[in-house]
Amino acid sequence: MTVTKLDNNLTELAQHLARFRDHPLGHFIDGRADAGRSGRDFDNLTPIDNSVIGRVAAGDAADIDAAAQAAAAAFPAWRAFGGDARRALLHRIADGIEARGREIALIESYDTGQPLRFMSKAALRAAENFRFFADRAPTACEGRSMPAGDHVNYSLRQPIGPVGVITPWNTPFMLSTWKIAPALAAGCTVVHKPAEWSPLSAMLLAEICHDAGLPPGVLNTVNGIGEQAGRALTEHPAIKAIAFVGESSTGSHIMRQGAATLKRVHFELGGKNPVIVFADADLERALDAVTFMIYSLNGERCTSSSRLLVEQSIYDAFVARVAERAGRIRVGHPLDPATEVGPLIHPRHFDKVCGYFDAAREEGARIAAGGVPCALDGKGNFVAPTLFADADNSMRVAREEIFGPVLTAIPFADEAEAVALANDTEYGLTGYVWTRDGGRGQRIALALEAGMIWVNSENNRHLPAPFGGMKMSGIGRDGGDYSFEFYMETKNVCVALDTHGVPSLGKHE
Ligand code: NAD
Repeated sequence: MTVTKLDNNLTELAQHLARFRDHPLGHFIDGRADAGRSGRDFDNLTPIDNSVIGRVAAGDAADIDAAAQAAAAAFPAWRAFGGDARRALLHRIADGIEARGREIALIESYDTGQPLRFMSKAALRAAENFRFFADRAPTACEGRSMPAGDHVNYSLRQPIGPVGVITPWNTPFMLSTWKIAPALAAGCTVVHKPAEWSPLSAMLLAEICHDAGLPPGVLNTVNGIGEQAGRALTEHPAIKAIAFVGESSTGSHIMRQGAATLKRVHFELGGKNPVIVFADADLERALDAVTFMIYSLNGERCTSSSRLLVEQSIYDAFVARVAERAGRIRVGHPLDPATEVGPLIHPRHFDKVCGYFDAAREEGARIAAGGVPCALDGKGNFVAPTLFADADNSMRVAREEIFGPVLTAIPFADEAEAVALANDTEYGLTGYVWTRDGGRGQRIALALEAGMIWVNSENNRHLPAPFGGMKMSGIGRDGGDYSFEFYMETKNVCVALDTHGVPSLGKHE
C-alpha cells in the first residue's frame, strides 16, 4: 500500500486533534483555560464527513462577563505598556504563529473544509498581520498639530478600551488576526468570540499569545453561539467597540444590540461582487482570475467575484472556457495537497448552497457546470464547482450571496450596461474589471459602488491600503492606519500661548 501525502497529513493532524477529542473545548479567560459557567456544550463537526470532532463549551452571558471584566482590568496596564514593548511582543506572537503554522493549517483545514493549499498560506498571512501592526504600534498614537493664532492644537490617539471581536467561519484564523493584531497594537484589550462552526484555531491563537508573554486578560476567547455569547458581548457595558466580520443581517442585529451602550461598530459583511470582462481584455489572465476568484477557498470568501459580467461579443466563448475550467477543478479531501475545492463548512450551509441549484433551474438559468452535490465516499458537504449561465440580474442567483463555489454569468452590451448591472445590488464590497483600455478601466473603477476595485487583477492585498465595503457590505475600513481609527479615540489638546484675551464675566463694579 502506498502512503500518500494525505495519509501523512492525517497522521500528523491526529496528534494535534487528540486534545480536542478528549475534552470539551472551553474558553481562555484572564490568562487561563476556562471550562465555562453554563455547563452546556455543542458538537463541532468536520465538514469532510460531518463526524464529531469534539464538544465545545456554549459560552453565555456569565462567561462573557468574566472575559469582559478581565479585559477591563488588564486595559490600564496594557495601555501603559508602551508602543515599543507592544511591537516586540506582537513580533513574538508572529514568531509563535509561524512556529505552529503547520498545526494551524491542518486543524483549520479539518475544521472548516478549506483546502490545505490555501490554509497554509492563511496561517503565514496571519503572522504577517501581526508583524505589520507590530511595526506600527509605536506610532499608532500619533496625531497632527495645528497652530491657530494664540493657540496650538495638537491631536493624539488613545486606545478606546476593551473591544469585542466577532469572527466568521471562513478562514477564521487569518481573519481573527486581521482584527486582533491592530487592536492589540493600538493598546486595546480584546474579547474574541469565534464562529461556532469553526472554533478550534482561535484557541491556538490564545495559547500562542499567552506563550509569547501577552499579559493575562489582554486577549480573552469565549466560545459559543452567536445569539447567546455573541449577543452578550455586543451588549456588555465594559466593551467599547465591536469589530465584526460576518453576514449583513447579523450586522443589523449587532447594531440594534449595541444601541443601548452606544457601541462603536466596524462591520465587514457580505458581497455579491461583479467581475466585468470586456472583449479587449487579456482573456487568458482574465480567465485565470475569474476562475480563481470564485472557486478558491470553496467560494466561501467575502471578496469572491460571484457575478461574471461578460461583453456580449465574447460571452459564449468565454463562458464556455470558464465552464470547462470549473469541470476540471479537483474537488476532494481538504487535507489532500492536490485538492482545489473542499467541502462546505456545515450541512446547513450545504443545504443553502444546494437550494440555489434548484432556484437557478426554476428561474431559467442554464447550468453550464456543476449544479449538483458530489459527496466523497458518500459523505460530506461537497458540491461541484458550479456555473450558472445566461442569467439575468433579477434572478436570486444573481442577487443573493451564495457563499459557495457558484458563479453566475450575465452578458452585457456596453460599458454603461456593465456599470448599471454591476451596481444593481444591495452589496458593495469589491469590483473587478478586465480591459486593455486604460481610460475605461479608470472610468469603471470610479463608477462602481464598492469599497475595493481591482483593475486587471484579482484580490491582491496591500496591508496599508483600506479594506472594507459600501452599502450592505460594511461600515468602516481596516488596513494600515484605518484600523487604528477604529480602535483608538482621537483627542485634541488646545494650548494657549498666553497672548489672547480671556473673556470674563462678573468683573464689573
Ligand atoms: P454570521 O454573521 O452568521 O456569523 C459571524 C459571527 O457572528 C459568528 O461568530 C456568529 O456566532 C456571530 N453572531 C451571529 N449572530 C450574532 C448576534 N446576534 N450577535 C452577535 N454575534 C452574532 O456569518 P458567517 O456565516 O459565520 O460568515 C459568512 C459571512 O461573513 C458571509 O456573509 C461573508 O461575506 C461574510 N464575510 C465578510 C468579510 C468581509 O471582509 N467583508 C470577510 C469574511 C466573511
